[in-house]
Amino acid sequence: MTVTRFAPSPTGYIHVGNLRTALFNYLIARKSGGEFVLRIDDTDPERSKEEYVDAIKQDLEWLGLTWDRIERQSQRLDRYEAAAEKLREMGRFYEAWETPTELDLKRKKQLNMGKPPVYDRAALGLSDEEKAALRTERGDGVWRFKLDHERITWEDGILGEVSIDAASVSDPVLIRADGQFLYTLASVVDDMEMGITNVVRGNDHVTNTATQIQMIRALGGEPPAFAHHSLLTGPQGESLSKRLGTLALRDLRENGVEPEALLSLMARLGSSQPVELRLSLDEIADGFELEQFGSAPTKFDVEDLYPLTAKKLHGLELEAVADEVRALGVPDDKAAAFWNVVRENITTRKEMAGWWALFRDGAEPLVDEEDREFVAQAFGMLGEPPYDAETWGNWTTAVKEATGRKGKKLFMPLRKAVTGLQRGPEMAEVMPLMQVKPGGKPGA
Ligand code: GLU
Repeated sequence: MTVTRFAPSPTGYIHVGNLRTALFNYLIARKSGGEFVLRIDDTDPERSKEEYVDAIKQDLEWLGLTWDRIERQSQRLDRYEAAAEKLREMGRFYEAWETPTELDLKRKKQLNMGKPPVYDRAALGLSDEEKAALRTERGDGVWRFKLDHERITWEDGILGEVSIDAASVSDPVLIRADGQFLYTLASVVDDMEMGITNVVRGNDHVTNTATQIQMIRALGGEPPAFAHHSLLTGPQGESLSKRLGTLALRDLRENGVEPEALLSLMARLGSSQPVELRLSLDEIADGFELEQFGSAPTKFDVEDLYPLTAKKLHGLELEAVADEVRALGVPDDKAAAFWNVVRENITTRKEMAGWWALFRDGAEPLVDEEDREFVAQAFGMLGEPPYDAETWGNWTTAVKEATGRKGKKLFMPLRKAVTGLQRGPEMAEVMPLMQVKPGGKPGA
């Protein structure tokens, strides 16, 4: 059975970049009738926050990306300890005491000599006395996994064959000096013990994958199938890393983006398939193929979410928004007419309120200087509400007869005066929604 996981660290809100990872893993599990695990990577007690765990769940639920199981790394520390012990026994784990400054100095020297900045394994050459002295002087060291210096190769679901020379990679630190297990060890143990079969993550993890494959093998496991998707950039190809904070899923939700818009875009962006609005995860899963994604950075423009959001709203029936429409104060007998007029003219649900305010209170008329008299005369010929489907036709016919104006010169000034807008819905449909006589507001 296919088992995938989404493994966020609860150190912040999840954003569009995380969503891509979550969605790909979700879709792979869903398509094959497998399981999708939500794994909370909370081994860092200082940076992990419960409020972010809750927020991650809310965001995924909003999108319908429900998980079959939730796992928390903080509850599995004994498992990581057992794996560490195993690696120690095998001689694949060693303690090292270099300070960050010392490591930095080593790296600089290597770079100056034109060498790759790889940890030189000085700690491996320490005698027992030297180790004891360092422990007395500096306390516990960090624990590093001793890589086998050979090529690590895998068939990547997106990148094709990837081959990395382990000698070009530093032995990864798996336990910090304060005893905290680091993600790399925890992730390997979890992937093995949770039966994860497929891992999709960002290509910033490619080097991690190489070391993790060796670790899994050392621990007697079989590595899952890996795939690394490209990272998102801004519309001009600029790095998004600084802006991701403003692209949190909850901000998009606040701004009125519809979940289907976000899912439809994210499931196709960067692939050979066109982006089209899909209204369910089933439909989205349908055409989803990992192989269709390219390795080049994927340009993401938040603005692309709005036409998709608008399209979804245009297709919604009243039932889907009835509660919100009622909450605005729209009388039940006007609800259907209101929604019909409004849905074609909004980009997000949030704009519904503005339309209702316009119908309820009237707009501030938009009147060009040369139309001032004409508009005043026209308003003089309009009765008080309620209006009906005939009102606009009857009124404009009467105004036409009285003023001799016709066509655009007749209709445009009246539309602008009634709605305060250059364009918008059919006026015959607007008039029955007006709760007050238009033109009452200043400017008329
Ligand atoms: N917590 C890790 C991250 O957010 C998970 C990476 C992985 O998928 O293994 O980067």
